[in-house]
Amino acid sequence: MMRTPAGRAALSNRALAEALFALADQESPGDRRVDLLKAGYRALDARGPAGREVLGSAPGWLRPLVAQLVACHGEGALTAAVERLGAGRKAGRRPARERFLSRTDVESILASAPEELLPQRMRGAFHWHTRDSDGRGTLEGMARACRRRGASWAVVSDHSRGLEVASGLDREGVLLQRHKVRRWNDTHGEDLLLLQGLEVEILEDGTVDVPRVERNELDLVIAAVHRRLEPGPDQTERLLRAVETPGVRVLAHPRGRLFHRRQGIRARWETVFAACAERGVLVEVNGFPRRQDPDWELTRLASEAGCSFVLASDAHAVAHLEYDAFACAIVARAGVPAGRILNFAQREAVEDWIGNPGAGVW
Ligand SMILES: [Zn+2]
Ligand SMILES: [Zn+2]
Repeated sequence: MMRTPAGRAALSNRALAEALFALADQESPGDRRVDLLKAGYRALDARGPAGREVLGSAPGWLRPLVAQLVACHGEGALTAAVERLGAGRKAGRRPARERFLSRTDVESILASAPEELLPQRMRGAFHWHTRDSDGRGTLEGMARACRRRGASWAVVSDHSRGLEVASGLDREGVLLQRHKVRRWNDTHGEDLLLLQGLEVEILEDGTVDVPRVERNELDLVIAAVHRRLEPGPDQTERLLRAVETPGVRVLAHPRGRLFHRRQGIRARWETVFAACAERGVLVEVNGFPRRQDPDWELTRLASEAGCSFVLASDAHAVAHLEYDAFACAIVARAGVPAGRILNFAQREAVEDWIGNPGAGVW
């Protein structure tokens, strides 16, 4: 907890955000609820102590309420204020908001993290989207931005056809993109080696939506769940089948959770991660702020199971590429050594690893 010069415990941005979300939970759908949610997200995303920023951007009706929250010193006072403002209703914390980091959490974790886990030490920019599926940037624009940020290799990871909502790539789309990737490597490959990944769909039965012959043509097949994400029946078998699919090299955002919305799927994670470790399938730590999937506890479990990792921004625009810092903070908190994380490897080692599907590590 941060301390003010007077020595009083200042409110963390995460605690302020949680108070705003808890109050939003008590509103029925409408403008007030939306205003509270927006203020909560602003607190999570603030680069310094969030109070003034949240207050300054809040609509008139919300300001006195925010002022009361910001004036609280310590989380006990804050809980009491939320109860008072919520007309005596006890606010239950939603499980879909557990174990997420605010931007200032990320900064403070990285401030004491081992040097070799810092974002500026990453050589590879993994898992970002382009206009070819649901991203906003062009392939070239995103690649140039990766280079500017210091990467020497990068993996474009658009969605496959199975994800209609994200206008995923069909076979022809994948081939067209491959031409663009080759053209980039012919002219800029010395500066930044571009690799073609594809974020394929794990279907309900655990098979993936791209056939083997097409998987073999890709540099990297990344399997992910985007549907049937309710925390209902255990989905271990579904994930095991995906992990054991020939050609799948990465299991992306394994739970499919989304901040405030859903907790994601249930599985016997020790079993899933043991299969990943055994087959050399990397566990992706997704740093997109609303995903943060797996969180640091699940990441620690995967690490104890012997897994190796890859850190992802899941960028859908140039400005999102920095989100891999969230993934750095998650692995730092989980105590994963840099040697088990692909992004810190040299491009030659990554090329070798890609060319050798049986290899567990690079
Ligand atoms: Zn995804
Ligand atoms: Zn993605």
